[in-house]
Amino acid sequence: MLLRSVLLVSAVLVLLPATGVPGDLASAGSRLAGVSFAVAVLRRKARTTEEERTVWRWLARAAAVVWAGTVAQFGVSAVAGASGRAGLELPGDVVLSASCLLACVLVYQGLIVWNRTSTRLADPGDWLNGISAGLAVSALLHLVIVWRPGGHERTLPWWVLEMSVARSSALFIVLGTTLTVAVMAGLVRDPRIWVIALGVVFLMAVEVATAFGVLRGGWSSSGWGLFCVVVAWASTVRARPVRPQEATTQSLTIGTFVVLLASVAIILLATRLPPQSTGVAVICGGLAVVGVSTRVVRLVSDLSTLAQTRQDALTDDLTGLANRRAFGQQLDLAAEGGDDVAVYLLDLDRFKEVNDRFGHAVGDRLLQRTAGRLAAVVPAGAVLARLGGDEFALLLPGADAVGAVRFAHELAAAVQGAGGVEGTGQVSASVGIALPTRADDPAGTPDGGELLRRADAAMYQAKSTGEVVRLYDDAIDRAGREEALMADELSCAFATGDASRQFRVHYQPQLDLSSGAVAGVEALVRWQHPRLGLLAPAAFLDLVERGGHMADLTEFVLREATAATGPRTSWSPVGANDVRVAVNLSASSLADPGLLVLLDELLAEGLDPTAVVLEVTETLLMSNPEQAVEMTREIRHRGFGLSIDDYGTGYSSLSYLVDLPATEVKLDRSFTVRLSGDDRVRQIVAGTVELAHRLGLRVVAEGVEDEATLEVLRSLGIDETQGYLHSRPLAPADVPAWVRGRSAPALSGGRSRSATAP
Ligand code: C2E
Ligand code: CA
Ligand code: CA
Repeated sequence: MLLRSVLLVSAVLVLLPATGVPGDLASAGSRLAGVSFAVAVLRRKARTTEEERTVWRWLARAAAVVWAGTVAQFGVSAVAGASGRAGLELPGDVVLSASCLLACVLVYQGLIVWNRTSTRLADPGDWLNGISAGLAVSALLHLVIVWRPGGHERTLPWWVLEMSVARSSALFIVLGTTLTVAVMAGLVRDPRIWVIALGVVFLMAVEVATAFGVLRGGWSSSGWGLFCVVVAWASTVRARPVRPQEATTQSLTIGTFVVLLASVAIILLATRLPPQSTGVAVICGGLAVVGVSTRVVRLVSDLSTLAQTRQDALTDDLTGLANRRAFGQQLDLAAEGGDDVAVYLLDLDRFKEVNDRFGHAVGDRLLQRTAGRLAAVVPAGAVLARLGGDEFALLLPGADAVGAVRFAHELAAAVQGAGGVEGTGQVSASVGIALPTRADDPAGTPDGGELLRRADAAMYQAKSTGEVVRLYDDAIDRAGREEALMADELSCAFATGDASRQFRVHYQPQLDLSSGAVAGVEALVRWQHPRLGLLAPAAFLDLVERGGHMADLTEFVLREATAATGPRTSWSPVGANDVRVAVNLSASSLADPGLLVLLDELLAEGLDPTAVVLEVTETLLMSNPEQAVEMTREIRHRGFGLSIDDYGTGYSSLSYLVDLPATEVKLDRSFTVRLSGDDRVRQIVAGTVELAHRLGLRVVAEGVEDEATLEVLRSLGIDETQGYLHSRPLAPADVPAWVRGRSAPALSGGRSRSATAP
């Protein structure tokens, strides 16, 4: 209460001189007293508040600057009074004028800070816009002053007029900022901002009236004093809690264009008036146009950067196709709109090998070529995206099942065209398709995410079965559920030790091609599943690997196989025990130091390592060549044989054989079956055999199903053959009977080991 009474007195004090109190010294003195009170109140406020401290500090500074101007004016009046000279108020007025302009800047800063303490959503501070708007206002004021009948620009000294116009323009910007902050920072219901706004309006009216010569110069000085008191008053009013508003850049953009149009209009108007009186208006208007145009240019570049950023966020860097996010958005849009769309998911086969073998740069270029090929066959209106890695997705409106499958084959064919460059060989892809469900589907309409999941499941299914294209149907999900169940059963079997009862090892003979004798057997695992019967490795090896049971399985097979072929077994009576046995290793075995521990254990138990061959597939060796070389050396170092399985299916070169301490090369079935019909294949195999022999490696051909092939193999100098022609993999109990029943020459007495093992 006391504070407000003091402020009331201050208000009267600063207004007194304007209403005509005689004497320069007295008038300046009373003004000074009023402003001093205001400064004191504002500084006290800045000290006592916590959150808004900086706001009030800036406003107190503004008042302090006005105070300094008033002191200067007072000093000049005092000197003038003492020396008895009159008319020296001019320098004092200049200082006061300048300080008022500076005060505008400080108030502006205070308002910006106020906005920031209330909201982080947007900032109204835009100097370029503000200064341009101020210049436009000052141009307008000049024009109006000139236009006025009997314009008084000649009656006021030019600098007084210019100062007055400048202050009016600055106040205009302060007023604009006050109103913007009130809205942006959610201060509309806070009375303090409105008290300040009112003060600014009053002051602006006084300044404009002074510029027009309606009020005497003294009013301007008093107006500023009163403004300080009003701001101080605002600081004593209780704040209302604020709710910040979501701001957009729209108002800023609109403001920019309004200023631009206004400035241009002013310049056009000025050209119609006598040139000698409109110079300043044209200059101000011109500067405003320059300023605001710069702002527009920046705005446009900001917007294009924003658009580019948005674009970047939706494109795949490598291929320039849509990325996963963009695809997801389009998919959701289509699904929400109830559009009939087919989703295709395409994944390159064995892309990892290309990356491992040829490096990422070649892999990247292959992806780019693939993207290009796909884009070329995709019709307009479709969305083609790279979801990541070697996975591409396509969204195609309105497709029926038959058409979709046909088109998926086209996609796969297009991908094939991307290979064959940079030594990568042919590439292939697996495609999964999900179609929108029929109206009678019990599961209801799938959303975008579900469609993608289905396409993914279908693709996965295509990959695991070796199909190129697979259309999603319920069976795939059933297969997925079945797979999950099997994974559980597998874990259970290994956890309870039941695995050794459920897993079986079958043996497939390998015959010496020249003598026809059984040189060895390959151990091939089977799962005697409690529900599903005897399962081939393809049905469960992946699950074993993913479930982390591969080391256990390998140990089981190794122990079984070496026991079956050991010195005294059920095979002994026919001598079938006295053969070499081959055991397959998997990806994880090759990375598992535990394998070496197991081998050492077996050796300690008296195993003859030369009777055991460990088979490692070529692609496995290639996926981590350094580790592979290291591990295979350790295996060889212990005396075990090492076979490169599925030779010819991977990307390895012949020269790679030199680095590997292998004892055997196992020609893949895909070569064997084409041998008798394809002369090129025959040439390749001939070359391979020659090189392998030169390196001291035994060559085994697998998948031999007919006599014709056997003859070709014989002519090519292959060492051993394995395949259905001789026998399917046999249960251990069937091996002696098979051996006995063979019409071929009897088994040679000793082990037929590698003829040329290094
Ligand atoms: P693989 O090492 O290439 O084994 C040869 C596969 O070809 C065997 O299939 C065999 O039954 C089959 N096969 C043999 N001769 C012929 C033929 O004349 N015609 C045809 N069409 N096929 C023939 P299986 O037993 O289904 O084994 C599949 C794969 O599972 C094996 O391929 C091997 O990579 C893996 N595997 C088998 N047992 C084990 C194991 O104990 N551990 C590991 N890690 N993998 C194993
Ligand atoms: Ca094998
Ligand atoms: Ca093989």
